[in-house]
Amino acid sequence: MLANSRDINFLCTACGKCCDSQPQISVREMYSLLDDFVMEASLICQPTTVPEAFRRRHTPAHAAMGQMVANRAVELGGLKTHSIGGVFGYGKELVVTLAGNALGYPHKRRCPVLTSDNKCGIYDRRPATCRYIPGQHLVPMDQQHLAVGKFRELHGKERCDWSSSAPALVRDGVIVEPTMTEAFRVAESDERGDGLLLQSLLDEDLCLTSSEGEISISDFVTQCLQTHEATIPVAIFTMFLDDLRSHGRLPKGYDVPYFKEVAQRQITLCLALIETNLREKDKAARSHTEMLREHLRVNKALLDFH
Ligand code: SF4
Ligand code: SF4
Repeated sequence: MLANSRDINFLCTACGKCCDSQPQISVREMYSLLDDFVMEASLICQPTTVPEAFRRRHTPAHAAMGQMVANRAVELGGLKTHSIGGVFGYGKELVVTLAGNALGYPHKRRCPVLTSDNKCGIYDRRPATCRYIPGQHLVPMDQQHLAVGKFRELHGKERCDWSSSAPALVRDGVIVEPTMTEAFRVAESDERGDGLLLQSLLDEDLCLTSSEGEISISDFVTQCLQTHEATIPVAIFTMFLDDLRSHGRLPKGYDVPYFKEVAQRQITLCLALIETNLREKDKAARSHTEMLREHLRVNKALLDFH
């Protein structure tokens, strides 16, 4: 591959080396992988214009990529709003996006479902992001050579086949490999769906009383605007979706169990992961075990409260 070429060939040899953290997922995927990952819903905000300070710290190419990702977040239905004096300062226009968040193994630097022989443990139902790598759906469709180039920069020493005998991946900047094209379609549709879901949640502005106190989605968004990110355990998030469903406003395509089932499944998973950590007697796993215990506490408290 020539530097900056808009035509790239590629073959994944399934070495598992780029599965070095948990995958990015959508809210829909979060509910299809409840027995595999400890989950949170996550709100993230970013400026719609890459700040000057960021441009000064990074290369022009990096800043341009950041701007493309921000434009794409708006294009795919992220919520446009303004800073309320948090990390980005006053007056900056922001875009807030909702997604699922699969929690990983910070002490292992590998995806939690990667098996000991470096195979994906959920290959047939792996998230879209794992299907379109080395592309990136948050980069415009006709600029995928830039996303792939970035991946190659990060994973250049791994066993990917970039030779001209590998199948065509990108032609004139656009991904042409059919399974990846389909994964892009799914990821785009999920992203737009999560944008609509966030809008529905804010329109209803639900407020719930739970074991964690009074919580509302707008508080959650306010927190995100102040600190860049806000997360909420999946069982609590599901209580909001249960309410949305009872108002007939849960968008189509979300196969969401009721919150008690979600809490129970996450409890089972947390207990299994804690047991594994304790059995392995790995000191580096302590913070992971503490995180799991906190999720266990939240889920059990919810079930006791209701
Ligand atoms: S879900 Fe599978 S393909 Fe995706 S990062 Fe994890 S192990 Fe890799
Ligand atoms: S590093 Fe390359 S070859 Fe290895 S799993 Fe990732 S994409 Fe495939």
